[in-house]
Amino acid sequence: MSNETLRQQLALLYKLQEHDRELLSIHRRFQAIPRHIKQLEANVTQHKDSLTAKSGELAEVEKSLRSKNADLEMNEVQREKFKSEQREVTTNEAYSALEKQIEFLDDKDADTEIEILELLEKADQLKEELQKLDSEVASENEKIKEQTDQFREEQKELKASLDAKMEQRAKFLPKIDKQLSILYRRWIERQKGDFIALGKNGTCGSCQLTIQPQNLKEAQKYEKLVYCASCKRVLYVEPHSPEIPFP
Ligand SMILES: [Zn+2]
Repeated sequence: MSNETLRQQLALLYKLQEHDRELLSIHRRFQAIPRHIKQLEANVTQHKDSLTAKSGELAEVEKSLRSKNADLEMNEVQREKFKSEQREVTTNEAYSALEKQIEFLDDKDADTEIEILELLEKADQLKEELQKLDSEVASENEKIKEQTDQFREEQKELKASLDAKMEQRAKFLPKIDKQLSILYRRWIERQKGDFIALGKNGTCGSCQLTIQPQNLKEAQKYEKLVYCASCKRVLYVEPHSPEIPFP
């Protein structure tokens, strides 16, 4: 490779690196979206579960209420039975015994009625809470739906720009020397970050350390690949002449 060719190659590779950096960042955003959507869906499920739990609590209270009312009705039947028996007994003793049974039922009913009042109060409170929760959940879910739609929209946009970037890359890649692009790919695959470091004002743009004068001199010749002594990246240094484009 001639000097100018190598300089141009470094410039192209640097461009590719910048392009790939953008591509990777879009790709990361793109890949994160399903996770975001999943999290939102989990929130919807959580809301649904809390509504179900609250409704279940209310159903339990209503069930207890029905059972307490049934107790009252059953006692009423029993009470009528005792009363009609009282009309037929012939001894005071038997009459008093039935009276005691009736009093026992009355006491029980009094307790039950207090329990019913408490349950009614509890049911009212739960209904109120349920209504509040219901409207909270509805507005939360509305927000979640909006956010999910936004994510899906972003997902589509990112996919489109990814496709465009990949297409650009495929067109750009043949301009780069095979050997160089292999070295670049290997470096990237080892996830070492930038392959090319810009050298400006005698400093490596990647590790920010001063490029050794001998190295700098070599790099400015563009005869062969020169590596930063500290971060081992390929140096693409500022040319001597300001007329030569950089980077
Ligand atoms: Zn360096």
